[in-house]
Amino acid sequence: MATPLDTFARERGIKNFMVSFTDLYGGQRAKLVPAGAISGVLERGASFAGYATWLDLTPAHPDMLAIPDPNMVIQLPWKPEVAWIASDCAIGTRALEQAPRNVLKRMVQQAAEAGLRVRTGVEPEFFLLSPEGDRIADPLDIGVKPCYDQQAIMRRYDVIAEVSEHMLNLGWEPYQSDHEDGSGQFEMNWKYDDALSTADKFSFFKFMLKSVAEKHGLRATFMPKPFPGITGSGCHVHISCWSQDGETSAFASASDELGLSPLAYHFIGGLIRHAGALTAICNPTVNSYKRINAQRCSSGATWAPQSMTWSGNNRTHMIRVPGPGRIELRLPDGAANPYLLQAIIIAAGLSGIRDKLDPGPRSDVDMYRDAHEVPDTEPLPRNLLDALRAYRDDAPIRALMGEEFSKAYLKLREVEWNSYMQHFTRWEIQHTLDV
Ligand code: GLU
Ligand code: MG
Ligand code: MG
Repeated sequence: MATPLDTFARERGIKNFMVSFTDLYGGQRAKLVPAGAISGVLERGASFAGYATWLDLTPAHPDMLAIPDPNMVIQLPWKPEVAWIASDCAIGTRALEQAPRNVLKRMVQQAAEAGLRVRTGVEPEFFLLSPEGDRIADPLDIGVKPCYDQQAIMRRYDVIAEVSEHMLNLGWEPYQSDHEDGSGQFEMNWKYDDALSTADKFSFFKFMLKSVAEKHGLRATFMPKPFPGITGSGCHVHISCWSQDGETSAFASASDELGLSPLAYHFIGGLIRHAGALTAICNPTVNSYKRINAQRCSSGATWAPQSMTWSGNNRTHMIRVPGPGRIELRLPDGAANPYLLQAIIIAAGLSGIRDKLDPGPRSDVDMYRDAHEVPDTEPLPRNLLDALRAYRDDAPIRALMGEEFSKAYLKLREVEWNSYMQHFTRWEIQHTLDV
């Protein structure tokens, strides 16, 4: 019998399905499956050698199976004979607990059990570089105040407009693109959606943007801080919670000064209380810590947070309330794993709701200029190891995200930290040689 994917292939002229999953580092891995073989893969999964999947499996493990989710299949707008399909991971008949999409699905389920539907929008920032990745592609993009530069965005019109049109045709409702605060840096936005859909779309967006950029002889990067002295790439997440049917906001309140409900304040309380563990996921690389805490850059502000604080409409804090019924988490960067990013936000928020956490008083201080006025605020972790330790010590978050996942994630990231520590820098020589 024809499966929905066979029908999709026939109607759209698909020759190959790209059966794709996301590993613990946030990398996307895939097999191309000819359309004629997709029904078998839908039933049995596509097999991968577990050790090579970066899901913390050993060479002795049996095959890791990627099981396509027919609810998330996207025809590649730039290569219409191929369709990308998000997949869940399993070994035999058992779902692989540590696979990022599985982690997020569990968190979405937990939210549903609490009667909530979490909707999010991501704001990915990225640089367009030379194909070698070592310099900003546009040699004219050297202004000292590049934010919203009209001339510079038009020199990248071909890439931005092409991706925007693809999003439009996919029904994502793109609504704006801008030149960001760093030379060579841009941001593209599309409409918010349920957390799982947002994660799938964000994954696909990364793939699509990189592919279109390559077509134009460029290299797109979401690296958090590719250049010293130039603003890093964040990936802010706008969050709201709704009733199960999606009709009623659980975050909005007309009687509150900022338009937020008590539940929204508990959610913020959860994000603040678990900010250390949150950082381990939202800021997953050694390089991430050169973006947050950086405080100052060429244009006078990094726009990235340095403290576990929240505010009204003030961009110098970890959490901003841009309008009624919605909060913006400004902590995450472009390297965050699209699935784990959504999962940890739900985990921390639910934990705040369950424990009725109070976020503490809101701060309206300019944290770049006057942070000394609020000496008691908790700083964000200063490096990856501190963040991993905060995650390790956060039992409620570990339990919510899953112990198997947490163990695997900490292990892989610690390997990365250890590898970084083998690296010797010029700075060390300069500062230590003659001590
Ligand atoms: N690039 C800034 C960051 O690293 C954010 C700029 C903005 O507010 O859009 O978070
Ligand atoms: Mg931005
Ligand atoms: Mg933002």
